[in-house]
Amino acid sequence: MIRKTLILLFLPAVLLCQQQSPKAMKVIIDAGHGGYDAGAVSDYGTKEKDVTLEMALLLKKHIEEPSEPPVTAILTRSEDKFVPLIERVGLANKSEGDLFISLHMNASPAKRDNGYEVYFYDSMGDAETAAVAKRENEQDGGADYKDKNNPLFILWDLAQNEFSKESAEASDVIQSALDGALNRNADVSLKLRDRGVKQANFLVLNGMKMPSVLLEMGFLTNRNDEEKFKKVEFKERYAATIADAVRQIRQKFDKKSETTIR
Ligand SMILES: [Zn+2]
Repeated sequence: MIRKTLILLFLPAVLLCQQQSPKAMKVIIDAGHGGYDAGAVSDYGTKEKDVTLEMALLLKKHIEEPSEPPVTAILTRSEDKFVPLIERVGLANKSEGDLFISLHMNASPAKRDNGYEVYFYDSMGDAETAAVAKRENEQDGGADYKDKNNPLFILWDLAQNEFSKESAEASDVIQSALDGALNRNADVSLKLRDRGVKQANFLVLNGMKMPSVLLEMGFLTNRNDEEKFKKVEFKERYAATIADAVRQIRQKFDKKSETTIR
């Protein structure tokens, strides 16, 4: 009897606590390429796979700085090894992430091309973005799920379509945070050109069952961009800015789930 009364007394308090503590956020950070797949390589030998891994580790550090509710980060790779795209997608979906961020470095035959681009998934894209997606999709050799007639591809396509609105919103938040910290309010030595938000057919995004963004952080084929990614101050600011954007995205999504019945 006493036990029952105690449970009845404490149950509302326990329920109240559960209602008041917002859910922790889980971010999947994907360092593009790895192992035998170096990605883009600059004229001076800088490899995309090394820059993406370093930035992924830095981003995890900044994302996991104490905040309420906490944000945790899961990496698709934390060392220099090859991970097929399908495994990256599988790991992210199995981990039930709230947001997926894939990090890459851009390359162009025009050496003057510079700056960052924030992408979300679109099965079509345009000629320019299709070229970027084609280069990034090459990282998985000849995997047959690239064939648009493959049922797996179609299922994957549908998976991300469900989150296209949130993915677009997340892209906007990251782009405007980077535009503030690295473009408009940055000293010349840290300034990076803002190339805006774009859409393209990235294989690593299309099977994601969560809002997903791919960031081309800068051009390895541009000497000035490449040099910036050797500066600690620049890399720290870059990662801290994305982490800030992630917290803004969480607030945005939290607000939405308060007002919508899912
Ligand atoms: Zn890449």
